[in-house]
Amino acid sequence: MGRVIEQGGILKALRRQAREARAVALEQIDEPTPGHQEVLLEVRHCGVCGSDLHVYLNHKGYESVLPQVTLGHEWAGVVVGWGDGVDRWQEGQAATMIALQGCLGDDCHYCSGGLTQLCPERRVQGLHLDGAMAERIVVDDRYLLPLPTDIDTVAASLTEPLSVADHCINDCSEIESGDRVVICGPGVIGILCALMARQRGANVVITGIEADEPVRLATAKKIGFETMTVGEGHPSLTEQLAEKAIDVLVDASGASQVLEEAAGIVRPDGTICVVALYPERVTLDFNVLVRNQVDLRTCYASSRPNYEKAIKYLHAGEIPIEDLVRIYPLEEGLRAFEEAERQEVLKPILAC
Ligand SMILES: [Zn+2]
Ligand SMILES: [Zn+2]
Repeated sequence: MGRVIEQGGILKALRRQAREARAVALEQIDEPTPGHQEVLLEVRHCGVCGSDLHVYLNHKGYESVLPQVTLGHEWAGVVVGWGDGVDRWQEGQAATMIALQGCLGDDCHYCSGGLTQLCPERRVQGLHLDGAMAERIVVDDRYLLPLPTDIDTVAASLTEPLSVADHCINDCSEIESGDRVVICGPGVIGILCALMARQRGANVVITGIEADEPVRLATAKKIGFETMTVGEGHPSLTEQLAEKAIDVLVDASGASQVLEEAAGIVRPDGTICVVALYPERVTLDFNVLVRNQVDLRTCYASSRPNYEKAIKYLHAGEIPIEDLVRIYPLEEGLRAFEEAERQEVLKPILAC
């Protein structure tokens, strides 16, 4: 038998309303009811992700996102009820969600192999079904992760982006202590990747363009990283690095020029790891990669073990949360999107 404490009735939710730019608004919705194997949670904090911003601006590459949907996939909250078939939660217990959800079938090569993010049936809750920019959310129990009782839900709402950085740096990049690492793109993923790389003992440089200087690069500097500004009016990254050997370059920028230049920056037998998506096709001089035996890798999203590690890092206070986030009430969620679009804020978090 399921159990729901204090059914709330009507809820506020920040929803996409159409496949158009800036068609996001605060709406009143009926409270969802948890069905079989589902849990109802009160959302405490929900981050605005780069992908939410792409959806908000109706950018190319996000056609699969529903035209009407409650956004939000980076969040933490507390359990307030559950449907039948659920027996592992207590009222008030804190939890976060695995955002990219696979089929979890035993016969699925990817889900059974721990790579749920590559499942052919994968979907993101908050893009392909209703997400967490709302007062309450219903989640399939199999995608919920318990949080330590004393974790701050602002910190815990960074679990998903940190899990992506963990997968990129700790699973895919083979960074060793003392390595010289360049992280291109000082967005949240770039900065979290830089923190993970520093944790492995690397010497990290973060690069960005002039528009990144006031907030993103300033934040990177504040938390102790060397930064370089590239792009129009600035010397190329190759010149600025002045032939220093770069062991690993991580592209978190999504700018195709970065990847085109990367081949000539990484030392022979070095690694390029791509965690970004590109709005256009990338042209690469593969001969440079081959002749230098550069290892070009990609990494996509994250899976459960990365989430579990991310929760540990956040709980241990290893991420300088206050420097990265700005909190907005759910009612002012639109302002969070507008300020994110103008790059006035690194990571907006909605207090739901
Ligand atoms: Zn995200
Ligand atoms: Zn699957």
